[in-house]
Amino acid sequence: MYKANRFIELHLHLDGAVTADIARELARIQDIRLPEDDGELEKMLTVPADCGSLNEFLRCFRLPLSLMQTREGLAEAVRLIADNIRSQGVIYAEFRFAPQLHGEKGMSQEDAVQAALKGIGETDLKVNLILCCMRGEGNEEANEETLALVKKYLVEDGGVVAMDLAGAEALFPTEKYRELFAKARQMGIPYTIHAGEAAGADSVRAAAEFGPARIGHGVRSGEDPEVVALLKEKGIFLEMCPTSNRQTHAVEDMSRYPLPDYLRQGLLVTLNTDDMGIEGTTLAEEFRYMEQLVGLTPAQEQTILENAVNGAFTSEETKDWLRKELGLA
Ligand SMILES: [Zn+2]
Repeated sequence: MYKANRFIELHLHLDGAVTADIARELARIQDIRLPEDDGELEKMLTVPADCGSLNEFLRCFRLPLSLMQTREGLAEAVRLIADNIRSQGVIYAEFRFAPQLHGEKGMSQEDAVQAALKGIGETDLKVNLILCCMRGEGNEEANEETLALVKKYLVEDGGVVAMDLAGAEALFPTEKYRELFAKARQMGIPYTIHAGEAAGADSVRAAAEFGPARIGHGVRSGEDPEVVALLKEKGIFLEMCPTSNRQTHAVEDMSRYPLPDYLRQGLLVTLNTDDMGIEGTTLAEEFRYMEQLVGLTPAQEQTILENAVNGAFTSEETKDWLRKELGLA
């Protein structure tokens, strides 16, 4: 029987993956003061079990982001997060971050990209980078700059491999970003788009029409059978993140979490953490969570890992290696 004990992480935000230990180390090397009390630090970094709102969830990103505003801090964060998840059984990961959020102390977007690249060069985990554009108002130029940086640094493996769109989906509709992704497509840039998390199936439909390889979350796709059919037809992978969906209330009744349904309907589902530091989870725990909550079977776990290999933004050579490592070959 297939047992998933090694994993592939396709949806992890750097600023969401900072644990208390990592925060302390990043603060130490940059001479930043943190609360000495561990409980207090935990409280600043992690979402309370009864998290009431998305705002409360978003507040948790402030501290980790503030620790990644220098080249040294960002590079070291990448290395520490990679080493941490490697010790939890992850054998390949894609880290995403928005270079435009790392300029508080004067880093340019390109400085941030270079710092993150340095970080992935210093870990034994195989990591690729996804650069996020941000939903918002007045940051069109910053998004254009991110797009240009993805193009400039794009490689098949071992660096920047794709683009993403993150941020407040309910406030800034997916449709607004049609032109940005049309340009990405013209430039031959692979991309994933957060959609169907804080907004419904229409947001997924809009994103799917932009031609992404993957969709971040897409958990609300099932609200419209036509959207499910569209995802299938286009062969778009879903990066599902259950604990995150519970904490942001993207899904109210977790006992009906749609992951097994989507698998049965033939959607290309993968399982990921999103913000493991803030959520207090690991990828292994997400698999166990789904086993307990919705009865995820060994065969379904195998399918999820096969999907993750097929949907990864990496070379065929790395995919072959991953299949062997995971016992899928
Ligand atoms: Zn996300």
